Amino acid sequence: MVKLAEWRGKELFRKYGVPLPRGQVARSGAEAEQLVRLGAVPLPCVVKAQVLSGGRGKGGAVRFANTPEEVQVAAEAILGLEFKGEKVKEILLEEKLSIGRELYLSITLDRSLRLPIVIASAQGGVEIESVDDAAIDRVPVDPFPGLVSYERRRISKALGLTGAPAASLDRLLPALWRLFQAEDSELVEINPLAIVGDGLVALDAKVIIEDDAAFRHPEYADIRDDRTPLEEIAREKEIAFVQLDGNIGVIANGAGLTMATLDVLKEFGGNPGVFLDLGGTDDPKKVTEAFLLMAQARPRAVFLNIFGGVTRCDTVATGLVAAMQQVPASERFPLIARIRGNNEKEGIEILRAAGITSIPSLKESAQAVVAAARGPT
Ligand code: GDP
Ligand code: MN
Repeated sequence: MVKLAEWRGKELFRKYGVPLPRGQVARSGAEAEQLVRLGAVPLPCVVKAQVLSGGRGKGGAVRFANTPEEVQVAAEAILGLEFKGEKVKEILLEEKLSIGRELYLSITLDRSLRLPIVIASAQGGVEIESVDDAAIDRVPVDPFPGLVSYERRRISKALGLTGAPAASLDRLLPALWRLFQAEDSELVEINPLAIVGDGLVALDAKVIIEDDAAFRHPEYADIRDDRTPLEEIAREKEIAFVQLDGNIGVIANGAGLTMATLDVLKEFGGNPGVFLDLGGTDDPKKVTEAFLLMAQARPRAVFLNIFGGVTRCDTVATGLVAAMQQVPASERFPLIARIRGNNEKEGIEILRAAGITSIPSLKESAQAVVAAARGPT
């Protein structure tokens, strides 16, 4: 998923003709102050953290300023923030418009309808998840004709628009639709879409590009999404590794078994934290690398659940034992194994020689891991 920061989304808005406030990106307080002093951004202005999480308004990451000095102070305060785990490195300075109502408008894909839908609500400026369903209209769109006039009227009505703002919407919708189509988007969201005078202006922009189309967009190659540092390393090594909040590490093979293992641990009261999918690995070195990465996430216990097919049980066992020896004693954790299938006997023997027993029952092995993660009671 390629999530674009607000300023990048707004560059797309500009390209397709979605009306915007005038604005500039800055990376330091001094730069921000200068942009305003030189008139590149009119005063009063809004200073906005360029992070991927929402809720900036409530979280102190959107501020207003009336003078170049205030801009510098606000910019420095925001650039010093870590907002929902993300360091703020860029800010967007925009003219502060005097706004009437705040609306919500987005286009996304509805997976069950298998169609794009427009989502519209007259209650904008708040998270759409918190808006009463009755106040939201969802309009499926046939992608071939695109947004036709009666659909545009329905959206206009959902937003409560008449007169000049409705005419403004009639120009904005086709622009947003073209952007959605042409830029391979999975989501384009304007929240709030504000009524300013007689027209509409996009005060915020959230654009997500389809992962499967990312190869068509080299311009976003430098964007890292919400991967953790360990996930980033894993990606470079082509290891399927995901960090969650829990404390049990899961090593399995194949997405199906990996997901099922997470479910089983949950079922027995465990809290899976990191999981890695060895896929069809037949290289013990790869297993060692993957395991060492998992060790760095400091799990309380690790569950190795392997069904040997293409991946042979002895390959996994060999890689694992080699890795265990590289983990410093102070960072070791209980390891519970369940390996079945291709070369099972050889694998179990390798593990046994290293002091690890393989528990054949899924239930018993899962319960053993959950107990080990709780630690001595
Ligand atoms: P989010 O909270 O992360 O979604 O950030 P937004 O970009 O949506 O900004 C939060 C809020 O700041 C908006 O809902 C507006 O109320 C306010 N805001 C943003 N830009 C302007 C502006 O130009 N003028 C005024 N008056 N308010 C603004
Ligand atoms: Mn917003």
